[in-house]
Amino acid sequence: PVVTRFAPSPTGFLHIGGGRTALFNWLYARRFGGKMLLRIEDTDRERSTEPAIKAILDGLSWLGITWDGEVVYQFARAARHREVAEKLLAEGKAYHCYATPQELEEMREKARAEGRPMRYDGRWRDRDPSEAPAGVKPVIRLKAPLDGETVVNDHVQGRVVWQNKDLDDLVLLRSDGNPTYMLAVVVDDHDMDVTHVIRGDDHLTNAARQTQIYQACGWEVPEMAHIPLIHGPDGAKLSKRHGALGVDAYRALGYLPVALRNYLVRLGWSHGDQEFFTTEEMIAAFDLDSIGRSPARFDFAKLEHLNGHYMRSSSDSDLVDAIETILPEVGPPRGGPATLDAGMRAKFMAAMPGLKERAKTLIELLDSAYYLYASRPLTLEPKAEALLAEGGRVRVADLLPALEALAEWSTEAVEAAVRRFAEDRTLKLGQVAQPLRAALTGRATSPGLFDVMAVLGRDECIARLRDQAA
Ligand code: GLU
Repeated sequence: PVVTRFAPSPTGFLHIGGGRTALFNWLYARRFGGKMLLRIEDTDRERSTEPAIKAILDGLSWLGITWDGEVVYQFARAARHREVAEKLLAEGKAYHCYATPQELEEMREKARAEGRPMRYDGRWRDRDPSEAPAGVKPVIRLKAPLDGETVVNDHVQGRVVWQNKDLDDLVLLRSDGNPTYMLAVVVDDHDMDVTHVIRGDDHLTNAARQTQIYQACGWEVPEMAHIPLIHGPDGAKLSKRHGALGVDAYRALGYLPVALRNYLVRLGWSHGDQEFFTTEEMIAAFDLDSIGRSPARFDFAKLEHLNGHYMRSSSDSDLVDAIETILPEVGPPRGGPATLDAGMRAKFMAAMPGLKERAKTLIELLDSAYYLYASRPLTLEPKAEALLAEGGRVRVADLLPALEALAEWSTEAVEAAVRRFAEDRTLKLGQVAQPLRAALTGRATSPGLFDVMAVLGRDECIARLRDQAA
């Protein structure tokens, strides 16, 4: 059975690239009826924090990515990592290295002078530990093969080959007895029965190192898929400016999880030209072999486009729920409510068909709902003020009696009344509708005017028009 894992280091928020890695692991596991495990790699005690762990778990949940079983915390497994290092030592597959910091610095300097990466020269590999200098606490190093090749058959990168002479004897256990990241990952993936390692291609070289540890342990190497990292639209490494934000930031920007998920799945993976996927379709179509080898480019416009699509196809009540969820986080919009009470909820429900047509994000939607929650007298945006100033106030005053006289207040009834008024005065509809809109919504653009009027109701409309009439 397929077992994948997502193994974030909790040193910051759940990065957008991390969200994509988690999604790929989740989809692959679901596709094959397997499991996706979650391992928090908290061995860096200085940089790992509780809030970061919480942000990762929250971010995954919000994206709708679920993991199987209990969360595994890597630091808690240090004794097991140590045990494996000791076992390799006992079997002669690893050795104590007493090289001093000074000796290592000399090797580093030599490498720098020769313009090549630092390579430990193996000086303690075959040396008798009885020669150990007093007072130096040893590290345990892997006795890596000296010649031949280490090969990673990667689902995305293909067959990648390292010459063993270029890979030095890596440290498994530090002199303070702490396992290295390289050892911990291998032992954990093995103990967790991970069959597929899917992660960013910044770990590709680690894959070679880790393969050597697997081989020394006599364990089967999992399948590997190293995904190209995400770049900005200009091709440069993704930065804050490009949208290298935490998943929580996308929530606060008003994106729907379904849209972000759909966006992320296509960052590096594709299925023909298909643009929109239901969760079931994603699971059914996802595979490792269609992941591209060149870096995906992050494109905010595309994300907005997708989000707009999912906003329009979401049910009204789901969108009201989504608004309710983000309100405490983003704070009330100017002049708007901090939470939705039953009355405001009902107003949002009534207005939602018009609102969701136009908004690309929940934040835009909240903003264009200004007319719903604005209190009188409305704050007019400059363009609305201009519409009313240019004879608009007189026109509103002129129209008021026709509206006040209406027996029935519905979209159709108000529309008919406004049209009749315009015809009677040989005005274009817009010449009446624009000042009307400005007076009712405080804006020069809004959802369909007659729907707005129906949603607001007679009393509120008449009152707002009287506020502006001259
Ligand atoms: N903890 C590593 C990271 O956050 C991932 C390790 C792995 O997937 O093997 O980059």
